Formats: sequence, C-alpha cells, structure tokens
Amino acid sequence: MRLLIFGKQGAGKGTQAVRLAEHFSIPHISTGDMFRSAVREGTEFGRRAKEFMDAGELVPDSVVLGMVRERLARPDAEHGFLLDGFPRTLPQAHGLREVVGEDGLDRVIELAVPTEAVVERISGRRVCADCGATYHVTAPPRQGWGHCDQCGGSQVVQRDDDNELAVRRRLAIYERETAPLADYYADGNLLARVDGVGDPDEVFVRILTAVGGRTSS
Ligand code: AMP
Repeated sequence: MRLLIFGKQGAGKGTQAVRLAEHFSIPHISTGDMFRSAVREGTEFGRRAKEFMDAGELVPDSVVLGMVRERLARPDAEHGFLLDGFPRTLPQAHGLREVVGEDGLDRVIELAVPTEAVVERISGRRVCADCGATYHVTAPPRQGWGHCDQCGGSQVVQRDDDNELAVRRRLAIYERETAPLADYYADGNLLARVDGVGDPDEVFVRILTAVGGRTSS
C-alpha cells in the first residue's frame, strides 16, 4: 500500500498517520519528523531547516525532495509507505512522481478540517520532545505532563513553531501552496477527501473505508 496523507497543520494527520502505518505495516515517512530529528541531533542540515520551521515557512523544495528520495530508497519502503507532510507544493508532487513513477501511489487522502478548528487544535497542541507523540491541553498523557505515554519522556512541550504568528503563516502557506494538491491528485483519480472532524477513532474508520482497507474489530 503506497499512501499519501495531507491536510492543514493540526488536522490530525500525525495521529491518523501513525495508526494507518501500523494498520498496513508500512513505514510512516513524515518530513516534519525527519526535520525535527535533524534539529535534535544538532546537524548543520537541522540548523538550517530550523530557521524555516520556526518562521512557519516551508523548507526549500530541493532540500525536501533530496531527503525524501533517499528515504524512499531504503529497503523498508520497497513494498509500501505512508507519506505524511510531503508533498506540500506542486513542484514537490511533480518531484515525487519522478521518484515513484506514474503509478507510484495507490491513494491520496486529504484530511479536511475547517480553519477555526485547526487553530484551536494547534494552539493547544503539546508534543513529546523525545519521541514526537502529540497531546492536547484538553487530553494530557495518562500519568500527567511529566510522563509521555509512548516513551516515558519527561518533556511534553509546545512546539517552537506552534506559536500564533507561525500558525497563521503556515495556514496561509497551506492555502497557497498545498491546497492545489487536491486538484492535482483528483485529476489522477487518486484523491479521497475525508472529513477530519470528530473522534479520532471515527476519523480512522472513515480513512480506512476511503482507502478500501478493512477495519479490524
Ligand atoms: P509538520 O510537522 O509537517 O507540520 O512540519 C513542520 C515544519 O517542517 C513545516 O512547517 C516546514 O517548515 C517543514 N516541512 C515539513 N515538511 C515539509 C515539506 N514537505 N516541504 C517543506 N517544508 C516542510
């Protein structure tokens, strides 16, 4: 299964992507996570990416494409993958087609959530600095903020790029650069538009239905 999921920041992509990758046993390839881990490792590459990220801007297409091309060449991606947060622009979508070929994707999921709802979600979002697991101020880790459910890490914090100015900038960039992907993939009959509002379990069932997978009870 070769899947791609996109949607506004805060639409719940990360949560759904982790579940989808697990369901289909495919690697979850998140460009945002890849950049954040480079930032954590303190590499020169990470330092340059962080400047764009903190400003709420997109990292240049050529940089992202090179990184994704390398990742897709790894053996675990040979029989399927889930791309999350990539492509974000039409040039990236064209670049992806060059890498995977004309028939290189099985389904493209657009997770649709109104802007007001995502602003509320993002401003309340908290993430584990160690493993990237996400929470919301209204849904903390089971044992409280000092203990991540996934990895036990003690630092569940607000992402540097979740400040209000950066959020507004990212949403404007989304409309301009990323929203056109819907038409691009609709033309190729790949697009499945899924309503991302509601309980995450229900949204997951909607996504599975849209990609033609079966729900396990
Ligand atoms: P995300 O976690 O997907 O919201 O990504 C966080 C930040 O990483 C974005 O705001 C961008 O600065 C950068 N980024 C992630 N994926 C891409 C991409 N495909 N193209 C350009 N920049 C990206």
